[in-house]
Amino acid sequence: MRIEPDDPGGDWVAQGVYEVSPDLYRIPLPLPSDGLKAVNVYAMRDGDGLVLIDSGWAIEDAREVLEKALAALGHGIGDVHRFLITHVHRDHYTLAVRLRREFGNRISMGAAELPSLRLVADPKRPPWASMFIQLSRGGGQPLIDQLAAEAAAAAEQVDSEHTASDWEDPDDWLDPPVDVALRGRTLRAVPTPGHTRGHVVFVDPDRDAMFTGDHVLPHITPSVGFEAEIAHSPLGDYLQSLRLVRGMPDRTMLPAHGPVSPSVHARVDQLLDHHATRLDEMAAVITHGANTAYEVASRITWTRRGRRLDELDLFNRCLAVVETSAHLDLLAEQGRLRRTVTDHVRHYQA
Ligand SMILES: [Zn+2]
Repeated sequence: MRIEPDDPGGDWVAQGVYEVSPDLYRIPLPLPSDGLKAVNVYAMRDGDGLVLIDSGWAIEDAREVLEKALAALGHGIGDVHRFLITHVHRDHYTLAVRLRREFGNRISMGAAELPSLRLVADPKRPPWASMFIQLSRGGGQPLIDQLAAEAAAAAEQVDSEHTASDWEDPDDWLDPPVDVALRGRTLRAVPTPGHTRGHVVFVDPDRDAMFTGDHVLPHITPSVGFEAEIAHSPLGDYLQSLRLVRGMPDRTMLPAHGPVSPSVHARVDQLLDHHATRLDEMAAVITHGANTAYEVASRITWTRRGRRLDELDLFNRCLAVVETSAHLDLLAEQGRLRRTVTDHVRHYQA
């Protein structure tokens, strides 16, 4: 693998080591599912070693690509003296945990991820437990049945002990906002709850850059509230975190999925617009007689391509219902809808 200049107009997923700015490199790592094509890990030279922002998913393919990429930088995985993790999702956190067992790297993550990590690390907890709760609140019984069937089939294939062991505590729980002193520079961890409760972005003031994790992504709208410890108002939190970042100086955006782009603010403005439109759209669907998150999700379209709910894969159908619930609950909080609960199912009226 050779070091090449990063080309924001190129294929961001293509394997390589891309120099974003002096001593800072973007390394896209493969993911096992084809929904999200890759996750960007950012490596910065720091002292005589490296600091990595996010780590990738604990799969053999990702580890191999990371090893080759670090070799191109003249380093091995043992030279990574710090992993700074934006949030607890598998594609960002689990490879760091696996590598630490061999190399003893230090891992830091936002403290508000602790409750979710405790839940997913519990081997007695059934997979998808929180998703089932959220789908049931959303009136998504058909999805619950399908997910239960898939989970049962997967449980027969997967060595569950192995899966649970990818979830261990980090070495440090960051309590943001907080400065993170590295060997050669200081980054600032800023709390951005919403995508998950403990999501943080890292600001690099010297490079005038922000590692946005999944908080601000260039091509897709980050999901909100897909996490083990269910947040009270994930969309409310998320919008507030967008406004927080919008109130900070504009910087280069270094996202976890997608190409680097020159302005965090430009994308935040689009995301705020998107959610305002989405809130109006969902309120209108309730006015026209839909009652639950599942019904609303079935009547609106998804992704930039305008797909119907039943055209998405199962996981994304589930995420869509969780996403819809987050919008409807925010509308209820804002007094734009009335919410009643019958047998755990949340019903909404105009
Ligand atoms: Zn991600």
